[in-house]
Amino acid sequence: MIFDPIYIVAVLLPTLAITGWAAWRVKSTYGKWSKVDSGMNVDAFDFARRLLDRQGLQHVKIEPTPGKLTDHYDPRGKVLRVSTQVADASALSTTGVVTNSPRLSVAAAAVIAHEVGHALQDHAGEPAMKLRQAIVPAAQFGSGIAPWLIIAGVFLTIPGLAIVGLIGFGAAVLFTFATLPVEIGASGKALAFVNGLGMVGEKQTGAREVLKAAAWTYVAGALTALLTFLYYAWLIFGRRD
Ligand SMILES: [Zn+2]
Repeated sequence: MIFDPIYIVAVLLPTLAITGWAAWRVKSTYGKWSKVDSGMNVDAFDFARRLLDRQGLQHVKIEPTPGKLTDHYDPRGKVLRVSTQVADASALSTTGVVTNSPRLSVAAAAVIAHEVGHALQDHAGEPAMKLRQAIVPAAQFGSGIAPWLIIAGVFLTIPGLAIVGLIGFGAAVLFTFATLPVEIGASGKALAFVNGLGMVGEKQTGAREVLKAAAWTYVAGALTALLTFLYYAWLIFGRRD
């Protein structure tokens, strides 16, 4: 499959281009706005706490988590995890501004506000989020074992096995698309939060750019999954050789 020229031209090259572009955009946008002070005199954890409390989410805990862009909200544990990169106040040191007061960059504020958006979606029991959570087990099966069932089914000419694999992979594709309204919804809430806290003008534009760039990575993921699904379907049903 990896050496199939159809796979390389129709799936591998376009998805590498899409995901590469999206990753580059996140990196450059985040890099740019992580050097700009949000003007809010709080650190990342205080900012998260303040936003959560304002939304009536006092029960949501905040924890640090290692890594870059690993910030997330965990709906099972009701925990908002802030990456060390976002939490690190020294992210602003590149501007040369030395200060004793805690600093929160525009990028960090946008990321945290987005995760608070997820906490709010969870609390409100939003259907898009519920649907996404419901597909998780099938999607895990689909992205893990399903491709192997498809390949085995095709090469050993056991159509039933390949079709079971294709259905499983379909669940993984569905998950990537169910993710889109959840992510875009959380970013919409995030923008309203940061505006409400006085991040306006250029900083508001910056927060929007960071959130938009992050959304494109999810679009890239969904397109990659869909193209791969179409290729598998063609392997099973369309191939005449
Ligand atoms: Zn998100």
